[in-house]
Amino acid sequence: MQNLWNDDDAAQFNDELELRVYTSRLLGREPALVLHGGGNTSVKIVEVDILGGEEEILYVKGSGWDLATIEAEGFSPVRRAHLRALAALPKLSDPEMVNELRTHMTRASAPTPSVEAILHAVLPHVYVDHTHADAVVAITNTPRGVEHIREIYGDSVVVIPYVMPGFDLARVCAEEFAKQANERTIGMVLMNHGIFSFGESARQSYERMIALVNQAEDFLRENGAWELGEAAIEGEQQAFDPAAFGRLRSEVSDLAGVPLIVAARRDSRAQAFLSRDDLTHLTQQGPATPDHVIRTKRIPLLGRDVDAYGQSYAAYFQEHAEVHGGELRMLDRAPRVVLDPQFGICAVGKTAKDAAIVADIYDHTLDIMQRAEALDSYQALPAKDIFAVEYWDLEQAKLRRAGAAPPFTGEVALVTGGGSGIGHACVKALLQRGAAVVALDRDPAVEALLPGPGYLGITCDVTDGQAVDAAVSRGVETFGGVDMLILNAGVFTASQSIADMGDDQWRRSMAVNLDANLFLMRQLHQFLCLAPRGGRVVVIGSKNVLAPGPGAAAYSAAKAGLNQLARVAALEWGEDRIRVNSLHPNAVFDTALWTEEVLAERAARYGLNVAEYKRSNVLRVEVTSHDVAELAAEMCGPVFAKTTGAQVPVDGGNERVI
Ligand code: ZN
Repeated sequence: MQNLWNDDDAAQFNDELELRVYTSRLLGREPALVLHGGGNTSVKIVEVDILGGEEEILYVKGSGWDLATIEAEGFSPVRRAHLRALAALPKLSDPEMVNELRTHMTRASAPTPSVEAILHAVLPHVYVDHTHADAVVAITNTPRGVEHIREIYGDSVVVIPYVMPGFDLARVCAEEFAKQANERTIGMVLMNHGIFSFGESARQSYERMIALVNQAEDFLRENGAWELGEAAIEGEQQAFDPAAFGRLRSEVSDLAGVPLIVAARRDSRAQAFLSRDDLTHLTQQGPATPDHVIRTKRIPLLGRDVDAYGQSYAAYFQEHAEVHGGELRMLDRAPRVVLDPQFGICAVGKTAKDAAIVADIYDHTLDIMQRAEALDSYQALPAKDIFAVEYWDLEQAKLRRAGAAPPFTGEVALVTGGGSGIGHACVKALLQRGAAVVALDRDPAVEALLPGPGYLGITCDVTDGQAVDAAVSRGVETFGGVDMLILNAGVFTASQSIADMGDDQWRRSMAVNLDANLFLMRQLHQFLCLAPRGGRVVVIGSKNVLAPGPGAAAYSAAKAGLNQLARVAALEWGEDRIRVNSLHPNAVFDTALWTEEVLAERAARYGLNVAEYKRSNVLRVEVTSHDVAELAAEMCGPVFAKTTGAQVPVDGGNERVI
């Protein structure tokens, strides 16, 4: 574990709170310490209030902020004296605690303080850092965890048995700290949960955290439990079967009742883990630290029996909900991690981002489980403790805070020609509506066009069947399926009269504008059939289908062929719940199709200048890629839920079409 403290960087942060921001970000930069919103930090500052009185304020990480990116306003200022008084109460319910935290802040606009605020308040030190360090979590998830921790740290840390986070944990910590702490105490280990460090300065507390974690890592090294070693993988890696993977995603989505993204990870590390003999023992106990449960569920699905997983989840819920009392509503029963020899380690989420978070958490869980096993034996908390956190309202609130989901959340779209023009605009329109998007384009720039886990750009010539196959397979491996297909890639060959038409020009237009689309539809049919909300195909046609122009025979004939193909698909695929609709744009000039040359030549053909030509429609408006993309996205949405085989112009109104 590296100490990342840097004097020059630290000099940019001036007061106590700013330095708290600085070292919090240092902790947040290290995923082996904290992951995706895990961990929390605080600083106690004496301030003068508006009436001139002095009071001590606990600045504690606000709920919803991530240590890696936290700002000063991400810390909630709470009156410390009140929090310390609360800690002396025999009990305090969660809603009461949240109410006390929120009503004793000194800035009304601050975020809700961390549920561990009271714990931070009872510790006497100015700075307090808390992480879920992998090494500490590995050691504490073993049968002899307390013994190991005592051996490593002696009396320099206070040891707290597992208690669920929240008020009870704060109270226990206050009592145990009073009993166990001495002048050598620099931290506190929470069994099966994580570690705290304290100090009088931001630097001291941070450096103590690093030192404590390094002691734990050294202990694992000394006990031959650090290096995991890549287990030799026997035989060839099994070929990935996209169709079977699509079926798995469909079953998982059905169980959840909403479309889910399923991302496969099949590298050598995943394979080595999956080939372990003790896979069931390691993976079927529970997460490494309880708050992972809201992301990963308690245990992964081993194999592909999604139904059995759902049944066993329902049984787990029934068993523990009864003990819990109160009115609990069962969450969806779908697994969030699936372990399968052929599919690898699969992360499941409501969005590609959620799935990526699950993948990150499980990646660290692999290390933790394997190291605990090498040291001793991996022993997670009993199911009842995990259940209590999974159904803890304050944890569920973290997920609910995300707000209403956009319409295509959990769905996957594939857009051809997604690197520019109408295709790129479609990619953006679909991403904006919550879909994960696979964009194919001949131009390799497509690969890095947009950031984020929900976008996959693949260089692919749609006329190359093998390349399309490979791209579809990669898209399915990344997101789990394809629910929406936007057939946009096209080529507009230069004007040529029929009498002078070359074979090449004709064939090129047919290959790109027609044949490639047949191939794509054929390849994707099986995935569209599996789409949780029914498959959708949107064909970007052309005004030329309805009103061809002279000199555009190759283009118009190919697009007309595509139009018929779409209509037949609408007829054939209705029983598969797949909707196929076409839109016919005209004169969309912000695309690569319309070079200055083509534009000038077209305008001249109609006896207009370029400016007139651009708005030469009934409504006298210019049609943009964005306009077309919005219609394409809407055609995939609920407005068109009962429409198939439709052809909608998006051309500003064309006299020949009307
Ligand atoms: Zn924690």
